Amino acid sequence: MVSDNFKDIRKPAIFSIQHFCLHDGPGVRSMVFFKGCPLRCSWCQNPESWRTSPEVAFKAHLCIDCKTCVDICPQQAISAPGNRDVQKCDGCFLCVENCPSGAMVCFGKNYTSDDVLEELHPEFPYMKNTGGGVTFSGGEPTLFPEFVGQLSTRLHEQGIHTTLETCGYFDSDTDKAFLFDMDLVLFDIKLFDEAAHRRFCGKSNNEIKKNLTRFSACSSAGSGPPVWPRLPLIPTVTDTYENLTGWAQFLDSIGIQYLTLVPYHNLGASKREWLNLPPAPEFIAMTDERLEDAVKLLEQHGISCFAPGEEDWARADFNTKRNPG
Ligand code: SF4
Ligand code: SF4
Repeated sequence: MVSDNFKDIRKPAIFSIQHFCLHDGPGVRSMVFFKGCPLRCSWCQNPESWRTSPEVAFKAHLCIDCKTCVDICPQQAISAPGNRDVQKCDGCFLCVENCPSGAMVCFGKNYTSDDVLEELHPEFPYMKNTGGGVTFSGGEPTLFPEFVGQLSTRLHEQGIHTTLETCGYFDSDTDKAFLFDMDLVLFDIKLFDEAAHRRFCGKSNNEIKKNLTRFSACSSAGSGPPVWPRLPLIPTVTDTYENLTGWAQFLDSIGIQYLTLVPYHNLGASKREWLNLPPAPEFIAMTDERLEDAVKLLEQHGISCFAPGEEDWARADFNTKRNPG
């Protein structure tokens, strides 16, 4: 079986590298999405990011029932199209390579840092011309501290700005020194109440609050990168009065008076089906009125709200640390 504990720090699995992105840091950016996440947010739109290993998925609507996958599997793990025994599967991906219709797909591929740099290299001029760079996202990039740290150092050597997007759930006391060498940290926050965070995201938020506090203190002291929080707005879950005022007061208490609001869209439903995961709970759609109410409430509490891609990065003393003058 392909163990989800497999984490080759030299070759982590990346499920997507996207170019010319405008919503996850300043300027034109390339996004590197790592596989593996410690949280299981109920509304997650990228369930292919949860496990650390590349994984097989099945798109039933594309299957032409040729049974090639059944015949070719060396482990006899596929008893019928779409019926794969994950205990028997050893991750050879022969079924994916030989499926004629694209119904069998693989999410994720193992990369070395050379592979990633090679793919990013053609975009360097655009990044430099627009004040952009590379954003590490996921999944959770802090699961691969050595790899991301090394990649960031190599990008800095080329004059490329690096941003980390994190769920905040990591032990910053141990092996996460690289975090403080990033140029910017986008820090995702979700539920302020601890029990609600456990219920909707699968883990406590104590560590997340501790890390955000620490980042903010380091940022103010000039010993860490600017930190910018982002909150996904899930109707009736994260856009409640209690949640918004809880975060507003917390952010203000640690010296942060700005926030990006990311309105919820239900886009991950088919991916869960392809990965044979239980369906996500249904959340009601975000409306303009709810968004406006959330912005009004946060601003009443002294927090300036931004849409993704429209942030005023100067508010986070953007780049002060790397511009000694
Ligand atoms: S090889 Fe692809 S198209 Fe053929 S049965 Fe398997 S999943 Fe369906
Ligand atoms: S990846 Fe596909 S072919 Fe390979 S062992 Fe798993 S099910 Fe069989």
